[in-house]
Amino acid sequence: MEENNNNHNSSFSALLSAISSASELPEPDVEILTSGGLRIPAHSSILAMVSPVLENIIDRPLKHRSSERVIPILGVPCDAVAAFVGYLYSSRLREDEMEKYGIHLLALSHVYAVPQLKQRCTRGVSQRLTIENVVDVVQLARLCDAPDLHLKCMRLIAANFKTVEQTEGWKFMQDHDPFLELHILQFIDEAESRKKRTRRHRKEQSLYLELSEAMECIEHICTEGCTTVGPHDMEPEKKTGPCNKYATCQGVQLLIKHFASCKRRNNNGGGCSRCKRMWQLLRLHSSICDQPDSCRVPLCRQFKLKAQQQKLGDDALWKLLVRKVLSAKAMSSLSLPKRKREEEVRETMGGQMIRNFIL
Ligand SMILES: [Zn+2]
Ligand SMILES: [Zn+2]
Ligand SMILES: [Zn+2]
Repeated sequence: MEENNNNHNSSFSALLSAISSASELPEPDVEILTSGGLRIPAHSSILAMVSPVLENIIDRPLKHRSSERVIPILGVPCDAVAAFVGYLYSSRLREDEMEKYGIHLLALSHVYAVPQLKQRCTRGVSQRLTIENVVDVVQLARLCDAPDLHLKCMRLIAANFKTVEQTEGWKFMQDHDPFLELHILQFIDEAESRKKRTRRHRKEQSLYLELSEAMECIEHICTEGCTTVGPHDMEPEKKTGPCNKYATCQGVQLLIKHFASCKRRNNNGGGCSRCKRMWQLLRLHSSICDQPDSCRVPLCRQFKLKAQQQKLGDDALWKLLVRKVLSAKAMSSLSLPKRKREEEVRETMGGQMIRNFIL
């Protein structure tokens, strides 16, 4: 940061004139000493009111009765101190001050315990994060106990590590703060495995969503009928185009047709892998069907009956599957408008449901 002591800018002079022209205030009774030897006259009562840390400094007994009260605030540019004192008087901060001195003001607000300013600076600095300054800011965020800003920095670093690694800030930090480097590398590692977990979870969710969609599709085919398959007492719709309701409809219809005519099918669907899948889809339907008496899906009642008699479907895995599909169904009907969901389903899984459904 450039430091311009001889030619101090608007922050400093505006502050001086504001303080001296505030007619309702008494004469300034303290001076704030900034780097470069500049002094800002101020009112101890105001400083003490806004900052408990400054209050402590002001309340400290003077060593010599005659000595003037001088409060040194060094180590940051003079204009940053001016902007800081200006804020203590007015609770205001200009955008250009934030732009130039946000980092210094964050440090000052932390050191002198001025929470509102700290909040503003945390936000301001966080909005101005760049690949270039992120390593400096993450260190500051740690020192200043600003967890939100810290997390944002870590995420930015993790997402752009290859570029961040090339910055001066990173190289300097490597030499001077190996623990921080370690900490950041650990964070990146954890972020990676978090991402993997989320991906796995999404994949599972999409399988349940596909199954719930397949359930709706089977009901649709067995109740209204679709292009080539329909209920016994109904002619399939005479149209040539593919089903516009379900992306998987064509595949499910083929599967049903196959199931109806397959020579290798035996009673539990075994023998033929396609029949086995259809069998499982029908069993799943029966497990979630709440109107078996009026239901037109094949084997629905038989499966219900069998489940009651033989405790078929009592195994935990099946129950879990049924629960997951039911909740996917509930979620999908609650959260997204149908149109969007169907597009999404089409996008992410196309007609792969049949292939994926292996228990
Ligand atoms: Zn259809
Ligand atoms: Zn078959
Ligand atoms: Zn049913």
